[in-house]
Parts: sequence; C-alpha cells; structure tokens
Amino acid sequence: MQARELIENPANCRPHVVVLGAGASLAAFPNGDAQGRRLPLMCDLAELIELAPLFASAGIEQGLDDFEAAFARLASRDDLASTRAHIETRVHAYFAAMDLPATATLYDRLVLSLRPCDAILTFNWDPFLFDAFARNRHIAALPLVYFLHGNVRIGACDEHPQPSLIGGACRTCGKSMAPVPLLYPVGNKDYTSNAYIAAAWSDARKLLAEALTLTVFGYAAPASDAGAVSLLRDSWFSRSSRQFEHMQVIDIVPSAELHLRWSKFLPTGHLHAIQGFEDSWLSLWPRRANQALLHTMSTGVPCAESPLPQTHNLRELQECAANIAAHEGPCAGIET
Ligand SMILES: [Zn+2]
Repeated sequence: MQARELIENPANCRPHVVVLGAGASLAAFPNGDAQGRRLPLMCDLAELIELAPLFASAGIEQGLDDFEAAFARLASRDDLASTRAHIETRVHAYFAAMDLPATATLYDRLVLSLRPCDAILTFNWDPFLFDAFARNRHIAALPLVYFLHGNVRIGACDEHPQPSLIGGACRTCGKSMAPVPLLYPVGNKDYTSNAYIAAAWSDARKLLAEALTLTVFGYAAPASDAGAVSLLRDSWFSRSSRQFEHMQVIDIVPSAELHLRWSKFLPTGHLHAIQGFEDSWLSLWPRRANQALLHTMSTGVPCAESPLPQTHNLRELQECAANIAAHEGPCAGIET
C-alpha cells in the first residue's frame, strides 16, 4: 500500500498502547529541559537534587546512588515520616520546575503519532508528556494519557478523577483539584487509595486487554515495580493468548536483556527490539501504525512508510500531523 493511500483511508483499529519509562524521557530530552536542567535517574537523583543532608539526618549516608533502596529504607520507618515528606517535596519541586524546550521534541512526535483510540501509560513524574499533550491538543485528536505513578502537573477531584492541571477546578463539581501523589519506589505501591490513580489503572488495564499492539519505550520494569508489571501482564493476556499480536520494545540495553525482561509478555518468544523511536512502528506510520501492521499481516506486503519530518520546527511538525489527522473521522474506541 502506498503512503498516500494509507493516510487518506484510515481504518478503525484496536488500540495501540504505549508504556513509557524513565528511559523514554531521557531519550527525548538528553540535554534536559529548556534551561538545561537535567532529568535525574534513580542512580543520581539524590546527588542532583542534593538530598544527601536529608538522608544523613535520618542516619542514611551510604547507598544514595540507589535511590530506590535508600528511599525504601527511609519509608519503612514511621519515625522518619517528616524526612520522607521533605524529600518528596524537594523531588516534586525539581520536576515541576522543568520546562519543555520550544523546539519540536520526541514527545511532540509521540503524542501526534497516536489517535484517540490509543493510549499512553507513563510511569514518569516529569512534566514533559503533559506539556507536549497540552501544546498539541488543538492540532489533532490525541491519545488517552494515564499517569500510573502520578505526575507533578496533575491534580484530580476525589469524586471525579478526570485529571487536570494542579490548581484547577473540577469540571463536574467545581471543587479545587488535589495534587495526585507521586508514587515512590517502595515495594508495595498503593494503586487504589487515590481516586485518580485507581481510575487510571482501571482504564489502563481495559485498554491493554483490548490492545492490538504494545510499545514499551525506555521502561526498565525495576524490581520495585513488580506489582505494576504483573498488572500490565495480566491485562495484556486477559482477552487473548497474544499469538498474533505485536509488541515492540524501544530501549538501548542489549536485546538479550530485553528478552529476559519481557519474555513473559511474548508467548511466541519473538520480540521486536529497536534502539530508537525513529525506527518504531509509530514513527514509520504515524496515526496509522496498527493499520499498516494489519495490512502487512494480511497481504505479506509492507506498507510504504510515511514518517513525520525530522524537523526541530514545531509548527512544521504540527502541520504534517494535522494533514494526516484531517482524513480521520471519530475513532470507535472502547468504553473505559
Ligand atoms: Zn469533582
């Protein structure tokens, strides 16, 4: 199928679900935010945000290069609750102050490459996906987005968990939005107490059950997320044995390691692993990836590729995405 034919004849497909981890934000913002503020990793978060004195005040001076382990030690002790709260405030403030660069970013490409029947599930606290969504929402109908571990930009009403900017008012009842908590790296994260987090997981699981394709981008599935990975896996297999569906992993770690990490999601053992977003199905066929894959499966002939331009100019990127989206009617979607 030619690119023009694919773009002009969009079909309704089952969802394409994308899972984002810290590696995705790092790939999208290797030089940090608009002011050059670096994105921390778990190995340098304590150093970058200067948390050593706070940990030291709680008697934790070693092992700060493993924030997950250090924080878990702190969180296990009720007498250190105020130190824990201080650390959480500092981390929140650092991420919340980050600004999206003015140029076209990988996250602009990502949100513009998916349709409203698709979804992004992110574990990241940084504000870049939220901000990319906000500045592209008038260009084309965008995917659903769920922040499974909370996010520094979002708040939600206790009763009506549609997320919005922190400080806004609930569109249903007018109450001011309470910040959605960031879920820290402790073994048993609470996915049920906060109304937004619970609703996000519920919708995410339904979408994953229905998904035709799953793309995992820069998510390391750390030991502290064992519960989350188990929920994702159960949902992925809840409606299908996944003999024919597709999973693609975008990650810079060696493919043997990725096989080990994701083999439980792959009944056929076949993993599509690539190093960068530019080689992904989403990038090759923006807003049409599932359709292109189905075409290839049914005919044995690949679709011609139709990637968005490799430009730093946001306006140019948006115009190209708008031209593709102009051919789309409403997505059938699924009920979440
Ligand atoms: Zn409300």
